[in-house]
Amino acid sequence: MKVAQALPWVAPIWQRLSKQLAEERLGHAILLLGQEGIGKRVLLREFSQRLLCLKSDGQGPCAECASCRLYDAGSHPDLLMVEPEEAGKQIKIEQIRQVTGFVNTTPQRSTNKVVLLGPAEAMNVSSSNALLKSLEEPSGHVTLLLYSHQPSSLLATIKSRCQQYTVNPPNWTEGLNWLGQNSQEASLESLLRLAKGAPLKALALIEQEVHVQYMQFCQDLMDLANSAAGWSAVLAKWKTWDAGVIMGWFYELTLDVQKTQAGVAVEQLSVQELSHQSAKVAANVQYAQLQGFLDKLLQSQLAFKGQANPNPVLLIETLLIDWLALLRQSRQ
Ligand SMILES: [Zn+2]
Repeated sequence: MKVAQALPWVAPIWQRLSKQLAEERLGHAILLLGQEGIGKRVLLREFSQRLLCLKSDGQGPCAECASCRLYDAGSHPDLLMVEPEEAGKQIKIEQIRQVTGFVNTTPQRSTNKVVLLGPAEAMNVSSSNALLKSLEEPSGHVTLLLYSHQPSSLLATIKSRCQQYTVNPPNWTEGLNWLGQNSQEASLESLLRLAKGAPLKALALIEQEVHVQYMQFCQDLMDLANSAAGWSAVLAKWKTWDAGVIMGWFYELTLDVQKTQAGVAVEQLSVQELSHQSAKVAANVQYAQLQGFLDKLLQSQLAFKGQANPNPVLLIETLLIDWLALLRQSRQ
């Protein structure tokens, strides 16, 4: 309920879930789909409290019962949160084994048990298969709440065993207004664009000062292209940042090149600050070369998310050098 007031665009999903619960038609596994940063996890957090609450009025958790107090203290024994130990990394198979143990025991303080897991695409194939067992043989008192930012990366067998709900982001104006009420930051439009219209993502970018790094990233690429900076100095700066985030910006930049080649207007690009560079590359680089860069980028992202622990600075260095090569080539 609180979440539906705080994030009005998720209210329809909250109401649907509550109705299913009231009519005893709620599945034992729920999967929320939708882009990152629109409130799926926040919604499921509150819904898990609602499921565990001992005195709910049917609308939301009561916030007063013994279960709600445990929930607020962050120590509810009947709630298991399963998320990557580090942002952007995989959910480990040992974490899924914990789920199996958890669902096979009876509730301690509530009448139900809840597993909240996400993002579900952070499970690799072995973890997904391990989770399937819990999905296939549900215990009556257990509800699994899953969320995913990239449903196309999930095993079909996982999806088919869940009741699926798609959470839509707010429209642009609604998102911008919401952000304005929650942040004093200037340039909210550019932030919301960077967050692909997801308001919570935009707030997170502000809190982590990622948007400051993003503006610096754009400036550094412009300086490198004009030979106003050396790449080793730039790399020395970037190596203190989250390599996964930098790869994400290169990915958006590459998509901008493809969009430009397809005739998409500058206003529709993600990294508008570098539209000059994406236009240059789009005009002069062959399809196969761009595809080669994109393949390498996707491999770097996979390697970074995986458990092999590659050197992130080396991955970024390679991408930077390759991007500069594409730019240089387009000058000929
Ligand atoms: Zn309660």
